[in-house]
This record gives sequence, structure tokens and C-alpha cells, in this order.
Amino acid sequence: MTETEARPVLVAGSINTDLVARVTRAPEAGETVTGSSFAIFGGGKGANQAIAVARSGAPTTMLGALGDDDFGRARRGDLEADGIDTRSVASSTTTSSGVALIVVEEASGQNRIAYVPGATWTISPDQARAALARVQPAVILSTLEPPFDALGTLLTEGTAIRATTVVNASPEAEGVRQFLDRVDVLMVNETEAEDLLGYKVTIENAADSALALVVLGPRTVVITLGAAGAVVASDGKTERLTAPRVEVIDTTAAGDSFTGAFAADLARGADVFTAARSGVVAGSLATTIPGAYPSIPRRSAIEALLRET
Ligand code: ADP
Repeated sequence: MTETEARPVLVAGSINTDLVARVTRAPEAGETVTGSSFAIFGGGKGANQAIAVARSGAPTTMLGALGDDDFGRARRGDLEADGIDTRSVASSTTTSSGVALIVVEEASGQNRIAYVPGATWTISPDQARAALARVQPAVILSTLEPPFDALGTLLTEGTAIRATTVVNASPEAEGVRQFLDRVDVLMVNETEAEDLLGYKVTIENAADSALALVVLGPRTVVITLGAAGAVVASDGKTERLTAPRVEVIDTTAAGDSFTGAFAADLARGADVFTAARSGVVAGSLATTIPGAYPSIPRRSAIEALLRET
């Protein structure tokens, strides 16, 4: 892609801290088991996507909320280290930062997760309004994690200032229905597409499934298909984009890397098919490195792999 300056992107969603304990066997109710290791990771789909946009070279503002606690300060620092504007990340004095307590059972590899959204559920319509007025974004990217009154305001008022609205219908796709009249680009994985359509989405019917989702309101629909890449439907056209062959180590943040690279390309004025090509490559690159934040690729790496494919 030619060098064009990207316009601002506003990213709304969760900023979480994952607390991961590894144990040989998960505890039963009332039981204590001794674990073998513990680690803390930055996460949250909103934060992952904001980092992906920033590493793809677009000016990025995060709209979210953290608690006035150590995890909140650490996550704010992570976002700022990637050059993300955190002035629209509220600091709640009454609610904790979002955390996920993850117990990994080594024997079975199964996870048990207690997730507390915490401050993310305090994001308010006024906060969304203030961020829009300050940033004047060209692209708005959100998951379904913020409270729906704040998300509704963001999309309604974002549409009014002619921002392109991109919504990743995650974690529970069903909630997106009420917003589909204000969504320019709907991004879903296969499971989320199935939840919205009520039938199984496969590589074979993915293009038709994307067209069926366009009928619900958005101008463009992107369905990501894991190792099989993605399909895009827009203005009556569909395109299947194959993923490059990579050595897959950990798929954490693959979808978020796709979404962020896609939004950054839109902010540079790319069309949705070109942007999705960057997205596929970004998602595949993310699978080659373990973890969330560390695996999210930079624009230079995405462009290098795009040139090879
Ligand atoms: P999510 O993580 O949201 O479910 P997907 O699994 O569909 O999203 O992955 C998003 C993108 O990441 C895909 O479009 C693809 O580009 C890349 N990807 C995911 N899994 C693989 C894989 N096994 N091999 C190569 N690329 C992958």
C-alpha cells in the first residue's frame, strides 16, 4: 500500500489483566490445591485491538475504563508504551480493573476462568460523547464489551460525524442485532456468524453466509475462518482471502490482530477488501508468537508478509 497518513481511530472495549495459575488438577469446591506456576498478562479484546491498530501505524485512542489499582496502572502503562492515547480511559475509584482468574489444569489442558469486567462496565454514554468530540475519529472500532447504552451512543453519534463504524460482535454475537443499523462493518468469526444466522458456517458456505449477514444491515461483513483465512462481503461482491502458511504456536489475539490491522488500513483510506488482506496476514502473524500483547504484529512485519503472498 502507498504511504498515506492514517486518520484517528477510536477503539472501545475491555482492558483486562489475566491472572494465570497452573495446577496439576483443578480444585473442587472447598478444596485447595498447590499450583506449580503463576503469571500475570495484559489482555482484554479492546486493549488487544487498540494495540493492533497502533502497531499498524494509525493514531489510536482507547475508550475504556480501569480501576484505581495496580492492575489499572500497569495496563494504562502498556497502552501508552504503544503510543496509545489513554485520556479517554476512565479511572474508577469505586470499581476494580477488569480481571480474569484463569486456572489451567495441566493434566487435561482445560481452563477454568472467572471473569470480572469491573470498570469496563462503567464506560458511560457521556464518556463516549466526550471521546468522539475530542478525537473526531475517522474509524470507530468496538467489541460488544462496553455497556450497551455507551456503545449505542458511540455508534449513533459516530455515524453522525461520518466515522466508519466497525463492530466485532464478540463475546456474545446476539447483542449486535440492536446496533446493525449503525454498523458499517460487522466482523465475526465462524461461531459468531453461526449464532447470528442460526446455521453452521463452513468454508464452503462462508461467502453466502457473509451475504446473508449483509442483509441484516451492515454494508460490509467480514467472517474470519481461522487457518482458512477470511471472507468479505461488500456491495454485492464477495472475496475469499486465504491465510498464509505459518508455524502456529498460540492463536491468542489472532482475531484481534486481524481487526486492528483492518481498522488501521481503513483509516489510511484503503477499501475493505485491501484492509481485510492486511487483517488476514496480521492474524496469521499473531499465531506465531505466544501471548496476547507480545504477539500483535507491527505494520512493517505485515507489509513484508503481504509482499510475499
Ligand atoms: P478468532 O480468534 O476471533 O476466533 P480466527 O480464529 O478466525 O479468529 O482467526 C483470525 C485470523 O487469524 C484468521 O483470519 C487468520 O488470518 C489468522 N489465523 C487464525 N488461526 C490460524 C492458523 N491456524 N493458521 C494461520 N492463520 C490463522
